[in-house]
Amino acid sequence: MGHTPEDLDAARDRLVDQLVERGHVERGATARALRAVPRHEFVPGGSRRRAYEDRPLSIGNGQTISAPHMVAIMTDLLALERGDRVLEIGTGCGYHAAVVSEIVGPGNVYSVEYDAELARESRTRLARLGYDVHVRHGDGFAGWPEHAPYDRAYLTCAPASVPEAVVRQVGSGGRVVAPEGKHVQTLVVLTPTETDIERETHGRVRFVPMRGEADATNG
Ligand code: SAH
Repeated sequence: MGHTPEDLDAARDRLVDQLVERGHVERGATARALRAVPRHEFVPGGSRRRAYEDRPLSIGNGQTISAPHMVAIMTDLLALERGDRVLEIGTGCGYHAAVVSEIVGPGNVYSVEYDAELARESRTRLARLGYDVHVRHGDGFAGWPEHAPYDRAYLTCAPASVPEAVVRQVGSGGRVVAPEGKHVQTLVVLTPTETDIERETHGRVRFVPMRGEADATNG
């Protein structure tokens, strides 16, 4: 059985319908973005067949691309508007960045990836698919100060606690969505105000651990 582009488009639509039915997607903009981004282009050749199943997939170098429902939930929680400037920590294969870019528009997503090879490949892939996303190789523990402030930030790897630099670079009125915790992880939404940081939790999740400085300071 071959997989024509039409097969893949149909499979993607079915997947998004399913995510909407199951209540994983509430915002129309999120659903539209998920329908637009060709997830099969972001996974290794051998996994294309499985790109439209709701499961995480290996992207090499010991890393995984999150299951579509997790991308949907996090994207919804970010409450993005067109024109928002967004910081992502953990580019991976670039899929989530592409979804966010569909909503906020070209040039507004800044993504930091720890693994040099993944950073290079994702930069090339995103450009080839027409996504104007800025990708930098580095440790997301420090955020990406040169382009701060951001309206939103999210992490796709789990630190013991969300790096202060990332929260600072978003600042009051913004919002940070991240998995947090070393063994047991929780999805948290931080909203810094003038005086404080408000914190909501959204259940148990499972992400790859954040490497580098965050890991070294985990104790
Ligand atoms: N959003 C990605 C999922 C990436 S998996 C996607 O759609 O494919 C998590 C990624 O976080 C991995 O690529 C991993 O290399 C990266 N990562 C881990 N620690 C990091 C750090 N300190 N800074 C930046 N990226 C990091």
